[in-house]
Amino acid sequence: MLFADRDVGALKVEAGARALTALNPHCEIEPRPIRLDAETGEALLAGVDLVLDGSDNFATRHRVNRLCVAARRPLIAGAVGRFDGQIGLFAPHQGGDDAACYHCFAGEAAGEDDVCAREGVIGALTGVIGAMMALEAIKWIAGAGASLRGHLLVFDGLNAQWRRLRVLADPLCPVCAAPLQE
Ligand SMILES: [Zn+2]
Repeated sequence: MLFADRDVGALKVEAGARALTALNPHCEIEPRPIRLDAETGEALLAGVDLVLDGSDNFATRHRVNRLCVAARRPLIAGAVGRFDGQIGLFAPHQGGDDAACYHCFAGEAAGEDDVCAREGVIGALTGVIGAMMALEAIKWIAGAGASLRGHLLVFDGLNAQWRRLRVLADPLCPVCAAPLQE
């Protein structure tokens, strides 16, 4: 939804920043065209209140989750397939019954990373999931309503159905569970 035909070949972060600035010139947007790894990830998270992950491969998703758990930052993860999508909000550092992290839900699942490139995604679907992520982000920052934390919202675009699933923390999760006592 952020991109137009003229953006073909442009860096996503830069084309996205242009589109968002056109939408609201009062927002301060800082595009960072760098590859995410352990080092850059830590620097990127410094001073950040909330992370939204819309990356297109599992390795990056798991890396973002590990970084967020370690830095105690809440994470909103959104994903789209061909005709379906999902959103989750994870903040294991806050404890309680909704303390799952992304890994508790996804496990080691690697899945197919090239589905988007091979089969494509309906553009409208990225708008649906992206807008839901934005809504959850605004709610989280404003402390409004009931957040999605501890749940997963799954959208079946072909059948126009939403499902809301509970995500439980995995006591043996290698990312967010406390190390077992010897
Ligand atoms: Zn976990």
